[in-house]
Amino acid sequence: MPAVLVVTGPSGAGKGTLIRELVERVPEIEVTVSATTRERRRGEEDGREYRFLSAAEFHARVEHGEFLEHVEFISGQCYGTLRSELARIAENGHTPLLELETEGALRVKHEVPGAVTIFISARVDELERRLRERATESSGEIHERIELARKQLEQAREFDHVIENDDLERAVTELTTLVRGLLGATATMPRR
Ligand code: ADP
Ligand code: 5GP
Repeated sequence: MPAVLVVTGPSGAGKGTLIRELVERVPEIEVTVSATTRERRRGEEDGREYRFLSAAEFHARVEHGEFLEHVEFISGQCYGTLRSELARIAENGHTPLLELETEGALRVKHEVPGAVTIFISARVDELERRLRERATESSGEIHERIELARKQLEQAREFDHVIENDDLERAVTELTTLVRGLLGATATMPRR
């Protein structure tokens, strides 16, 4: 299995934004497309942001062992990484990058050899401000995500690297430098 990169952190921390900037700068990286049972947001396309599955199909795939990891997140919606995604990206000769909530990220850290985990952090009041401004969830869902965020921020130290996303430009530079370093280190590892 190739080394994988995992980007995690609370909702609103800026994971999606930072990853979009990262892949522009580091073409060796390819982001996995997760499967989910949550509703499609405006502007999202099936197979691009997520593979949108019914709960029945998601659970059938769980039964068939098709997921590397999967979780039930807020509002009972399921999210998971299909093993086939890692295979597809490896075939392209790229390094897979997984964007996961913290539970899935910890599972991958402990179960996938060579996984490197990066936690994106931000202050709780800032998370709430960003989620309200992003306006992709209802007020109740934002409240749930913020309550969960408080717990997730306490888990930051369990991950290999923590990046504070207060200033976006600085955080993009820090993430890019980190990932280039990690890929460089992998590339220079002796091969047998
Ligand atoms: P996540 O994927 O972690 O839920 P997003 O990348 O969707 O977070 O970011 C949440 C919102 O915050 C988006 O509207 C994004 O444009 C904004 N955002 C991201 N990083 C910053 C930052 N450093 N400063 C201010 N706003 C930011
Ligand atoms: P959203 O609904 O905002 O797209 O995502 C909610 C949360 O689910 C985010 O924290 C995101 O990182 C996480 N997530 C997305 N895909 C997966 C996945 O395949 N597995 C896990 N464990 N979490 C995921």
